[in-house]
Amino acid sequence: MKKNIKTLKKKFRIYSPKIKEECGVFGISNSSDASTLTALGLHALQHRGQEGCGIVSFDGEKYHSEKRFGLVGDNFNDEKVLKNLPGKFAIGHNRYSTTGGTALRNVQPFFADTNSGGIGVAHNGNLTNAITLRNKMVEEGSIFYTTSDTETIVKLIAKSKRGRTIDKIIDAIFQIQGGYALVMMTQNSLIGVRDPLGIRPLVIGKLKNSYVFTSETCALDIIGAKFIREVENGEIVYVENDELQSLKPFPPKKVRPCIFEYIYFSRPDSILGGKTAYEYRKNFGAQLAKEDTFDADLVVPVPDSGNAAALGYAQEKKVKFDLGLIRNHYVGRTFIEPSQQIRSLGVKLKLNANLSVIKNKKIILIDDSLVRGTTSYKIVKMLYDAGAKEVHVRIASPEIKYPDFYGVDTPTKKELLAANKTVDEIKEFISAQSLKFLSLDGLYKAMGFEKRNDNYPQLTDHYFTGDYPVKIIDELGGDKVTQLSLLSTGSNN
Ligand code: AMP
Repeated sequence: MKKNIKTLKKKFRIYSPKIKEECGVFGISNSSDASTLTALGLHALQHRGQEGCGIVSFDGEKYHSEKRFGLVGDNFNDEKVLKNLPGKFAIGHNRYSTTGGTALRNVQPFFADTNSGGIGVAHNGNLTNAITLRNKMVEEGSIFYTTSDTETIVKLIAKSKRGRTIDKIIDAIFQIQGGYALVMMTQNSLIGVRDPLGIRPLVIGKLKNSYVFTSETCALDIIGAKFIREVENGEIVYVENDELQSLKPFPPKKVRPCIFEYIYFSRPDSILGGKTAYEYRKNFGAQLAKEDTFDADLVVPVPDSGNAAALGYAQEKKVKFDLGLIRNHYVGRTFIEPSQQIRSLGVKLKLNANLSVIKNKKIILIDDSLVRGTTSYKIVKMLYDAGAKEVHVRIASPEIKYPDFYGVDTPTKKELLAANKTVDEIKEFISAQSLKFLSLDGLYKAMGFEKRNDNYPQLTDHYFTGDYPVKIIDELGGDKVTQLSLLSTGSNN
């Protein structure tokens, strides 16, 4: 049997249903421009996912859905496509895929008919028990159409025996575990759900008589909506008859948002916990400078991910800041390319050394994080080739030693450089003159905490600590994938 599966995998590119999703979600109620505003919101959230995008609208009678591969601006840019999405309610989704699963059927929002009416679901995050739940449902006769864990949520909602849709949703979310932010739409409501620890972000905005639920505040700014508040951890918010309602079905817990939203993932102008991501990142850089005794001629950021931290570092140390690397803005994030070979190429495609700035200089090169080391490796070499005298690398977050299972794309432990090498070995690997990471205590300090509360950490920070706040059931439980899905390369699945 084992051999059979191996051969089949080779022949038909069969994938396990587990794929990670790191995405952007948006939903709006009661607006005559619902789908256009959703397209704009998704455009502002483009950094959260570039592989595919989709919008589902409801016109009072029927649901309409348009899903595409690629960028929002390339796909939802004319009246023709938006005319196909009539109605005053709409939800949308940007998808970020990692390996495999690049089929249009995996592009969200998902839609299903249930016995209490239709429901559209857009999901950011990753469930840690999706395979376990999926296997159980498959054993009971369910058929799965996609390789996404979001389908598990949709099926759980549809299978619930409760009457009202909101109760079906509560039923479903009591069974799922992980990090998730959901934006959903039924015939009469827009619904937002944030996981019990608030690992994934979700905010509420208001624009005239419309409410907006979305991943980040930058998606509110683009449409001129006012930021009301964050959805609380474990909270369900919904809009019915233009009224915002809230339910808290879970036992109360303290919020523990994902530290990586602060370090890398959110757009710098988005507000998280009362401050912009930009302010946090500048503080990480300033704190890194405080922890560093080294002096150089020049601070250079890795654009754009290291910009804020480098500025904070330079201001704190009173060292000159300059743009030693020039970015080509017409290339996507390097990380998104599914193979290592393309990823390494991506760094070169994206950045070039700014000769006049770096020649004969002792440079401090700053980035927000180091994952596989690909970026630092390439850039250090690029700076030396362009005439830099010394390159000292500084990273504005601690060493990433543990992978993520809650919706951020990190490679396995085997590929995480800091999980397998000491700081000195990494320094050698990337050919830097010296290397320093921000300390974990420093990270918390820069966020305004006295220190990390080891009994109940203020953030989900397993990347650095291995402290996983939600059990990784699919990984730990030994529950094998009993169903394999055929990955279609066809265009309309
Ligand atoms: P690496 O080149 O593998 O060391 O990755 C580090 C670079 O990727 C940094 O420039 C980060 O800004 C960026 N990065 C870190 N985490 C992620 C992520 N989850 N998705 C995409 N890019 C990331």
